[in-house]
Parts: sequence; structure tokens; C-alpha cells
Amino acid sequence: MTSIETAPAETSAATFTSLNPANGEVVGTHPIHDAAHVQATVASVRKEAERWRALGFDGRKKALAAWRKVIAHRLDELASLMSRENGKPHGDALLEASLAIDHLAWAGSHAEKVLKRRMVSPGLLMVNQAATIEYRPLGVIGVIGPWNYPVFTPMGSIAYALAAGNGVVFKPSEFTPGIGEWLAATFKEAVGHGVFQVVTGYGETGAALTTSGVDKVAFTGSTATGKRVMAAAAATLTPVVIEAGGKDAMIVDADADIAEAVDSALWGACGNAGQTCAGVERVYVHDRVYDTFLEQLVTAAEKVKAEPGGQLGPITMPSQVEIIRRHIDDAIARGGRAVVGGPVPEGARYVQPTVLVDVPEDSAAIQEETFGPTVTVTRVKNMDEAIRLANGTPFALGSTVFAKDKGMEIAEQLRAGMTAINSVISFAGIPTLPFGGVGQSGFGRIHGADGLREFTYPHAIARQRFRPAIELTSFRRTDKAEQQLVKVIKGLYGRGKK
Ligand code: NDP
Repeated sequence: MTSIETAPAETSAATFTSLNPANGEVVGTHPIHDAAHVQATVASVRKEAERWRALGFDGRKKALAAWRKVIAHRLDELASLMSRENGKPHGDALLEASLAIDHLAWAGSHAEKVLKRRMVSPGLLMVNQAATIEYRPLGVIGVIGPWNYPVFTPMGSIAYALAAGNGVVFKPSEFTPGIGEWLAATFKEAVGHGVFQVVTGYGETGAALTTSGVDKVAFTGSTATGKRVMAAAAATLTPVVIEAGGKDAMIVDADADIAEAVDSALWGACGNAGQTCAGVERVYVHDRVYDTFLEQLVTAAEKVKAEPGGQLGPITMPSQVEIIRRHIDDAIARGGRAVVGGPVPEGARYVQPTVLVDVPEDSAAIQEETFGPTVTVTRVKNMDEAIRLANGTPFALGSTVFAKDKGMEIAEQLRAGMTAINSVISFAGIPTLPFGGVGQSGFGRIHGADGLREFTYPHAIARQRFRPAIELTSFRRTDKAEQQLVKVIKGLYGRGKK
């Protein structure tokens, strides 16, 4: 490719550092991009997007495959950076990046099938028409990402938006800017194209991206910030995807495989130090197996340690420790008990796995997103009660069911964007499944065919093949034609008893 549009020159000399959350060491120094720089980047990407669109599905598929290859070759390097900047163990970083590559592969190779122009039925009344739909790219997508899954989460928007033919400007979290820059640098290296660029900085840079004239904002982050992004985007009628927080429940029925349910509950609650939007924060267990489940969970949780080199890394964002502490303290003050872990010591960077029982349903630990390695376990008398309680928060992102007989029946009654049966968070790794929430967890979808269409607009074309037998959309319409229409409609839709 020729004449690559390069990122605009820096308009601000201000910088900030990203720190290793395990020890506070500086990982990298990055520019704080101001509104002028953000606008210039969007303009540059918009120009590049024309050439990107012109590549067609096949050209983009090849380009994205080249990027995927570079990331796969340098997986270890990326995972090390992720460990340093986000704090997660190397193995967790490898898993996250691998899943992101899989999504990139799927998006690149399925965009044509999902989005290209296709025929649809014109219906009986319009049988003289040929009806087609094509999903066209919106233009430039502003992607605003969180720090907890700094590769997998933004890739859910970046890969799908690019595959659909858009340009992308990505603002990574202030805690993980180096990872964002790494992604853009490897894209440029592999593809030689400036259609995907990164801007760095604090919340103000994200706010500037929201109002920069992008054609859609794909936001992943907290519900509170999501509301601010949506309010700002409303001023220019810029559409938004909001992937916000969660308070996911797991339900364990009496016939569940308890050992598997325990393993999944623990990993779902504590993996990534509990900083997972679709992590397990609450478990509702059938009375008949509650004691066995809890006993096994306690035994398993006591073996998992949050420490340097341990299975759990530190809490990435220092201010989150205070929220986790408040939820645990509140649960205990209101009659709950910590059967593993307990109050978080002052100054802690690491939070140990914490299992809370007897926690009132209206407490913060049940109703608000904790985002730490904590889980509440609650006894229920039957699955109706489990479903009612699982559905009892304003959030509705993911959910989990462990059951032999009634897994599907229970899953279908959960108010959630996704449900895993007899495994945990599996839906996120399946590229064909859409990912997203309802209620306070947001709206819109990444991943799958829905995730590709999220970054497009449908263009409908009706092509007349021959003049209609009954001419209706013309001032030449006659009384006879109207009577014929009435006859057809009554014949088609008015038959049978009233
Ligand atoms: P935040 O809401 O704090 O930040 C998200 C992003 O928004 C960051 O890049 C942030 O920049 C930026 N931002 C902050 N203020 C503004 C603003 N006014 N306008 C535009 N952008 C802004 O979330 P976290 O980074 O703390 O991420 C954790 C949250 O993300 C959790 O609630 C989690 O549940 C959710 N999440 C949801 C997922 C989903 O798919 N549903 C997946 C992963 C996480 P900066 O960091 O520089 O302040």
C-alpha cells in the first residue's frame, strides 16, 4: 500500500505514565492527547478509511489476517506487557490475547457473508420488486476501552468495526495505554495502513473522542461513565454501544456436578482478580447441595492466593480496592460472614479470595458491582427462588447455570445478555455469539454477526422488476385498484373466524 496517512503530529507536550500495579514501577510514558489532536486523528483515520473500504471484504480479510499473524507471533511479548501494565498473571494474559486473536480471525473471515448485499423476500403485495439489503460501514468508530481486559475487550469492537470497513480511533484506559499503542503499532507494521490509530490520555481524551465527530462510539467501561458518554454523544446524535458493568449470578441446581460448579464459581469469581465484567459475583445454590458446595468452595478458595507470582494478580486500579473493602465490610456489618478471606487490609494492592455467606439481598455486595475476587453464596429452596434472586439487580450482563436436567429451562428465564450452562464465561470465547447486556449493563452487541452489524447501517434497495398488476403508489390509482387491494388483503389476512 502507498501514501500511508500518518498520525497527526503531537499538539500537546503533556504526558502521563502507566504503572505496574504490582509494585508501582513505571511501565511507560504516553502523551495526553487534547481535543485538537483527537480531532486531527479522527480526520486522518477518516481519510484512510476510504482506501480501507475500497479494499473490499477480501482485501480487508487479508489485511486483518496479516495483523492476526503478527500478534500471534509476538504473543509472549504482548502477554508480558499486559502483565506489567495490568498486573494479570502471564498465563491469564496469554489466554486473553489468544481469545482476542480468535475473534479477529472470525470477524475478518465472516464479514462478507454477514454484511454483503443479499436478496430478501419482497412479500406478496410487492412481488414485482427485487428487495436487497447491504450493511455498509458507518465511517470512523471511536472505541473507548477499559483496563481489565485491555486486549480482548477493545478487540471486540476494533476487529469487528475494521472488518466491516470502518476506520477506528481507540482510546485505551489511562491504566493500559501501552497495550493500546502496541495494538496500533502492530497493525501498522502488519498492514501498513493508518486506518486504526490510538489516542492516549485520561477521561478528557475519551470525552474529546466522543464529541469529535466519529460516526459511532463503542464504549466499554463502568455504567456511570457509560451514561456520561451517552449524554455527550446525544448532542450530535452520535450512536453508541455501551458495554457496561455486571453483577453476574451463578445458579447451582440440586442435580449439578458440584465439583465442576465449585471450580467454575471460584475461577469465575476470582480469575483476573475478580476484575471481570461478566465474572461471577453471586452464587445461588439449591438447599439440598448448599452445604456440600460451600464446603468444597471454601477448601478450593483457600488454596488460591493473590500475591506476586500467584494465581491472582493485584487490583489494577488502586481506587477499586476501596470499593471492594466497602462491600465486604458492609456485608459483614449487616450479618454476613466471610468464610474465606475477610476485610481488606489498609494499603493492600492484592485482595485475597473472599467467600461471603448470609449476606442480605439488598446489600452492596449483592446489588453493586464489586469488581474484586469476592463472591456471595446464598441458599435457595428451589430454582424459582434462584431465578428471582439472580434477576434481582439492575445489571444484566452474563449468567451461569449448573444443572443436569433443567439447565436450559433455567437459562431461558434469566434476564441476561448471555448464559453459560455447566461452564463459566464460555459465551465470550465463542465468536459466533453476540456479547452485551441489558438494563444497567448497557446495550448493543460486540462479537458474532450482531457485532459486525453493530458497526454498519443497513442500506435497503427495492428494484422494480415489472409494473405491478394493481398500481397503488401513483396518482393513476383507480377505484378498481383500491377495491382489488381490499379483496387481496381480505383474502390474505381476513379469513377464518373473528
Ligand atoms: P471507566 O468507566 O472508568 O473507564 C472506561 C473508559 O472510559 C476509560 O478509557 C476511561 O478513560 C474512559 N473515560 C472516562 N471518562 C470518560 C468520559 N467522560 N468520556 C469518555 N470516556 C471516558 O471503566 P474502567 O476502565 O474502570 O473499567 C471497568 C468497568 O468496565 C467495569 O464496570 C466493568 O464491568 C466494565 N467492563 C464491561 C465490559 C463489558 O463488555 N460489558 C467488559 C469489560 C469491562 P480513563 O481510564 O483514562 O479515565
